[in-house]
Amino acid sequence: MKKKYRCIVCGRVFPEGQGIIIKYGNTLLAFHKSKCAAKFLKLLLERIPPEEIEDYIKHILRELEEKQKLEEKLRAKKI
Ligand SMILES: [Zn+2]
Repeated sequence: MKKKYRCIVCGRVFPEGQGIIIKYGNTLLAFHKSKCAAKFLKLLLERIPPEEIEDYIKHILRELEEKQKLEEKLRAKKI
């Protein structure tokens, strides 16, 4: 039998393989849809003081930007 999870945002129960499961430290975060994960992300970011995680966020932004540039280059080569 497949494991079931309960969405921490809306309470909906969903089977393993669906939704988004994130293990953060000792806490399991289960979201039945990306919409619920986005809601949680918003709540989380509203509560964490920016000085605590802004450096990490900037780092991720740089990483994603570089990835986008690389993908653009690859796309340009294919044409
Ligand atoms: Zn949900």
